[in-house]
Amino acid sequence: MGRDERKEQILRGIPAAPGIAIGKVHLIVYDEPDVTPRKLAPSEVPQELSRYNIALDQTRAAIERSRDRALDVAGVAVGKIFDAHLLILADEIFHDQVRGRIIREQFNAEYIVYDSFGQMIEVISRTQGEVFRERAADLRDVRTRLLRYLRGEGDVIPDHPTHEVILVAEDLSPTQALNLDRSLVHGIITDIGGLTSHTAILARSLDIPTIVGTGDVSSRVRDGDSIILNGNSGKVILHPTKESFAEYDAKRQRFRSFQQVLEDLKSQPAVTLDGREIELWGNIELPREAESVLSHGGTGVGLFRSEFLFLTRETTPSEDEQFSIYDKAAEIMDPHPVVIRTFDLGGDKYHAGINIRDEKNPFLGYRAIRVSLSRRDLFRAQLRAILRASARGNVRVMFPFVSGFEELRESLAVLEEAKQELQQRKLAHDRNIPVGIMIEIPSAAVMADRLAEQCAFFSIGTNDLIQYTVATDRANEQVAAYYRSYHPAVLRLIEMTVRAGERHGVHVGICGELGGSPAATPLLVGLGMRELSLTSSMIPEIKKIIRSLTYEECKRMARKAMKMDTSQEILNYMHGELKKRFADLPIWFN
Ligand code: PEP
Ligand code: MG
Repeated sequence: MGRDERKEQILRGIPAAPGIAIGKVHLIVYDEPDVTPRKLAPSEVPQELSRYNIALDQTRAAIERSRDRALDVAGVAVGKIFDAHLLILADEIFHDQVRGRIIREQFNAEYIVYDSFGQMIEVISRTQGEVFRERAADLRDVRTRLLRYLRGEGDVIPDHPTHEVILVAEDLSPTQALNLDRSLVHGIITDIGGLTSHTAILARSLDIPTIVGTGDVSSRVRDGDSIILNGNSGKVILHPTKESFAEYDAKRQRFRSFQQVLEDLKSQPAVTLDGREIELWGNIELPREAESVLSHGGTGVGLFRSEFLFLTRETTPSEDEQFSIYDKAAEIMDPHPVVIRTFDLGGDKYHAGINIRDEKNPFLGYRAIRVSLSRRDLFRAQLRAILRASARGNVRVMFPFVSGFEELRESLAVLEEAKQELQQRKLAHDRNIPVGIMIEIPSAAVMADRLAEQCAFFSIGTNDLIQYTVATDRANEQVAAYYRSYHPAVLRLIEMTVRAGERHGVHVGICGELGGSPAATPLLVGLGMRELSLTSSMIPEIKKIIRSLTYEECKRMARKAMKMDTSQEILNYMHGELKKRFADLPIWFN
């Protein structure tokens, strides 16, 4: 019996990047590197140490190249994966241990490197959870690259297909995933991983239909098997029948034409069927990402996470450096607005130049505006840089992590000082630069009607607002089930903020992840939100939803949802409403 005539099997995994792919399997099997211990003669030790140091430098340079390529082709989220690899390689204590072992044990560097990384990987792999699994995968990836340089093989990535395929693997390392040839790899299926795993992040950025977390698909397939994957639903069909082929071919066609519909929407406004216009803006971390906002049809930058300037360097960026970066973003977006958020350091974002002591509760600690207000030199320099960029006329400034009046008043006073300094230096700036705050601490939402007297706009940061409202660390996987994005209390705080804005003529937007979730779109519009700032790749889909509904319908849905008691009820209701309206569209519900 021919291979493709074997019985059809349906498997399921987590839909990680949308789209449908039909093709032949290319299996990537992870082989533990074959490292043989070789005893050194004492006279060989100095040369072994120098080999190690050279390989280390080469690996670092290779990872930096990957980071830069990632930033270019896949964006900041992917760049950060390689920053994490650089951090692993920056661990001097670890390197001293490796060197110490080479000297004491007198084995070849390959073996000591393999074994030393192996010990770390083993400890981490014993801990449950995706964060640790990713960390172990990162360590393996760095180890493989280092071993290749030690062996003089350089950075060639083996196993890559030479013809069109669907990749199947237990897992892909970030380096493998980054180097995929999009024209040959039509889909990815992995055994492990979740929605935020590195493979998933990369696949979404590269626009490759992907399913992760299937359990054991890689042990069920062979090279050349026929396979179908539906990245919208998480379904994998192995050895599909003729009927399945036909069905999915039609689905793929529909998905492609849906993408064409989205493409055609780019130049259209995000307006409901009864004429309510909603601004769709993008969140960025690097100035060049502004281009992607525009190419996806966004009409502003609602959140420029400026602290990113700190995260890829050891030193503090100067006023001039900052100015050229902010000005670049403003130039790209001109005449559309760019909201620059002042540094949000602390929490889980550290920097060598800022003295943040170890804290028991970093998310409740020295973070964001608190750091800025205690480092006036830094704060004023940043505000001067933002103000100088504001001379273009399309820049706005936003303060993060404001809990109430005190921080707002103090920040406004520092802004005034910065303006005076620029006046003395006779440097152009927008004296009336619009000033806003993030509403991401519940106390600020509760006080929104008063805070509105002092600012021009609010931007609701749901990522933090949720974590502080339901007391659930946004990064702690163990309590992820408690991080309820549609918790009625969160929705009430959002509603309070919108109403406060309406009463005072203050523009209210949202820049947390909820703003890019299709299931939340009718709810947010119905609650009265006028601007959604989101990951640019989601702009067309959200626009499609907005353009398919009336504001009246959205209000009705919001009113109904606001009467419900639990996050799950609300989410189910929103999913149900969307499915009713978009049943024939492959919209990616989340
Ligand atoms: C938020 O908290 O929702 C937000 C947009 O800011 P960040 O994710 O950078 O904390
Ligand atoms: Mg935040």
